[in-house]
Amino acid sequence: MFASRVARNASRAALLVRTTAKSSAPSGNLLGAMAAAAALSGTVAIASVSSSPAAQCDEKDDALAAYAAAAAKVKEAADALSALAPPPQDRLFGKKPGIDPDYDLIMEEDLAKNVYPFDKMLEARAAKHTSLAAKFCTPEIWEQYKDKKSSGKAQWTMARAINSGVMYPSSFVGCHAGDRESYDDFKDFFYPVIEAYHKGFSMEKGSDLKGTAAERMDPSKIKVQLSESAKAKIISTRIRVARNLSMFPLNPGGSGESREAIAALMAKVYKNLEGTELGGNFFLHSTMSDEQRQALIDGHQLFRGKDKMQAASGYHVAWPRGRGVFHNPDKSFVNWVNEGDHLRIISMEKGSDVLGVFSRLSKGAKAMEDTIRKETGLKQGDEVFMMHPKFGAVTCCPSNIGTGLRGSVHIMVPKLIKAIGFDAIDQIARANNCQARGSSGEHSAVVDRIDVSNWRRIGFPEYELVQDMMKFANILADMEDKCEG
Ligand code: ADP
Ligand code: MG
Repeated sequence: MFASRVARNASRAALLVRTTAKSSAPSGNLLGAMAAAAALSGTVAIASVSSSPAAQCDEKDDALAAYAAAAAKVKEAADALSALAPPPQDRLFGKKPGIDPDYDLIMEEDLAKNVYPFDKMLEARAAKHTSLAAKFCTPEIWEQYKDKKSSGKAQWTMARAINSGVMYPSSFVGCHAGDRESYDDFKDFFYPVIEAYHKGFSMEKGSDLKGTAAERMDPSKIKVQLSESAKAKIISTRIRVARNLSMFPLNPGGSGESREAIAALMAKVYKNLEGTELGGNFFLHSTMSDEQRQALIDGHQLFRGKDKMQAASGYHVAWPRGRGVFHNPDKSFVNWVNEGDHLRIISMEKGSDVLGVFSRLSKGAKAMEDTIRKETGLKQGDEVFMMHPKFGAVTCCPSNIGTGLRGSVHIMVPKLIKAIGFDAIDQIARANNCQARGSSGEHSAVVDRIDVSNWRRIGFPEYELVQDMMKFANILADMEDKCEG
């Protein structure tokens, strides 16, 4: 049943511009091979790799044996997932039938032919706002890299990397990685982008953060306090980290099958949390009712999907396959599965208890790492989440690399919005190492509240980034209090 759904979805996906995912896993790495096979040929491939692990693994080799065990476990997880899935159906969960630019990957016409979009790039560089992609993908850089493919599972290309920025010049970043290797394989492009976004960070020096993320996510290290005025204006607090599993391509370079393999693994992982304060249920988009999906979106617990910039980056490839959300009963511990990054580990609640939210995130992120390690059979010291030696967590968008942490509050500042407008607030935020977003997240409108969060993600410990956001919330509250009317 699951396989036939895969086949049916695959033919639907054939309408779209193909992704460049190819199997390139190092030989002997069964989990890697399985993930790469999943990226290429679907769940059927997972079953065939994992059904004969012994054939591919030298029993004397502990590492390979561990990978074989992991593969068998993911097969079990895939079966569990297929049991969860409803009968095949053609509901699209928000996407319009046919080609929908809010969801489908459409390549800009020059990039589709692997040609430099000269006029568009010239115009973008002359404009008041220039995306980082347009700024740093000069004709020289394009020439240098245009025929190169990344050495990772996605075999990523420059054309794919800059597609969203070329299609949508208003993007801030406008480029994405398809696998961990993209960042280094196209380094003369990506390193300047990273340094321009994360001001003050040097790729040559790299990050000198001490300890693990779990150690740095320590609420007792937060020394800033929210003012009474800020507390009164804050509606809710949310802190998340973006993480990607080391054995799969990043989602823009993945496929429906790679996303389903990830969801299958996560279905198993979440079972481990049962009976703990983090325990809850995992809902796939394909099993959710429209009402449940909308209620979660309205409650700010679920990603909206529909976003043309994300679509042009390849975030929505094979929508809605493998997409889901896990949450505990009070929806204070939430995981997004396969939005853009493989995982968004989220702690959130109403009110302004930043320390409580940070503390839950810290426990949650550690629990996720430990249980994924257990379910995949990876050993202590093996990498569960994709990490880069220079900057830390690897994410699809260069803006999230490093800690992957965004801590935000939704704050009511209606008088200030009326007096100076959202853009001016965002500018003040940027000068304070923060940013402002609309009431429903990035690229959304300001309805009544604004979302303020840390802007930097890299080179600073997680607790300091949360402090950046708290300091700015105090500044905003003070400005609101001083507004006339
Ligand atoms: P992310 O950085 O995690 O991608 P987005 O800007 O895409 O965040 O927003 C994701 C969702 O989280 C949106 O529904 C947004 O309104 C919600 N959100 C963000 N911050 C808060 C907050 N402090 N309280 C409640 N919901 C929030
Ligand atoms: Mg987002």
